[in-house]
Amino acid sequence: LMQIYRPLNFIGFVYREIRQGLTDIEEMFKLLDQNPEIEDKPDARPIAISGPVVRFENVFFHYDPDRPILKGIDFEVPAGKTVAVVGPSGAGKSTISRLLYRFYDVTGGRITIDGQDVRDVTQTSLRAAIGMVPQDTVLFNDTIAYNIGYGRPGASEEEIREAARMAQVGPFIESLPKGYETEVGERGLKLSGGEKQRVAIARTILKSPAILILDEATSALDTKTERDIQSALDTVAANRTTVVIAHRLSTVVNADEILVLRDGQIAERGRHEDLLTLGGLYAQMWSRQREASEAEEQLRRAAEDD
Ligand code: ADP
Ligand code: MG
Repeated sequence: LMQIYRPLNFIGFVYREIRQGLTDIEEMFKLLDQNPEIEDKPDARPIAISGPVVRFENVFFHYDPDRPILKGIDFEVPAGKTVAVVGPSGAGKSTISRLLYRFYDVTGGRITIDGQDVRDVTQTSLRAAIGMVPQDTVLFNDTIAYNIGYGRPGASEEEIREAARMAQVGPFIESLPKGYETEVGERGLKLSGGEKQRVAIARTILKSPAILILDEATSALDTKTERDIQSALDTVAANRTTVVIAHRLSTVVNADEILVLRDGQIAERGRHEDLLTLGGLYAQMWSRQREASEAEEQLRRAAEDD
């Protein structure tokens, strides 16, 4: 049996390596803030922001011409408001955040911030204006202080601590023997998904961007961690123009508008109560998630009784 198993195991290993390689490329874009195919126009100017209002106007996009991903997306995030994007996995939610950050260019329509097409402004100024908390945060192989301070070069130690406190990760960091000087990442201390996410939130709080994109983690977090993260996210999102991609619907109840994305189109839109009344896809997702969390709760109670 081992003779069969070994090659299979090897293939699995190679496959994981390749997949890891692919994610790393995207993470590299995120870390270095660049996709070599995206260039500034010769006459690109720094973005001028007052509002800021984000608009997607009839946006089309594909990674591969044979497979359209977004098919005519229209929405506006008024200054200081929050728009949530929900929908099944693979619907194109994270793609929306990548286009706003201009990791890729739209293939049709346009995206504007305060009336300026994101393709007409410098990438540096665009990305300085946007804070992104991605689905899976990759930390630099460096100290926690560096990973948070990266949000605003020149930030003081005190500002870094304050951001960590607001992100609900301060006490955790202080409990480590080396505190803020703890090395993290591949070669250092491995943080849990929830801890990494809060480090990323602290970095974003420090950056204090005009526009915020939150791509919430799918990974099942325990209820307390989820609550801590939620309150950290509420802190950053308050009075900021925010696009939140939500996997857990409990986080979008208060959004000013919810877009339900399906097959690259907006299938339903409105506020939470309106969508429940509509009795469509959103209402279905809502009752399914409620059942799931009730089941989870029952399991937890059963485990406690043992
Ligand atoms: P969601 O966030 O809603 O789960 P995504 O926006 O990440 O979905 O992806 C939408 C679709 O685009 C998926 O089918 C995904 O496989 C595909 N996709 C995502 N990134 C790439 C890429 N870099 N190249 C090709 N296809 C991609
Ligand atoms: Mg996604």
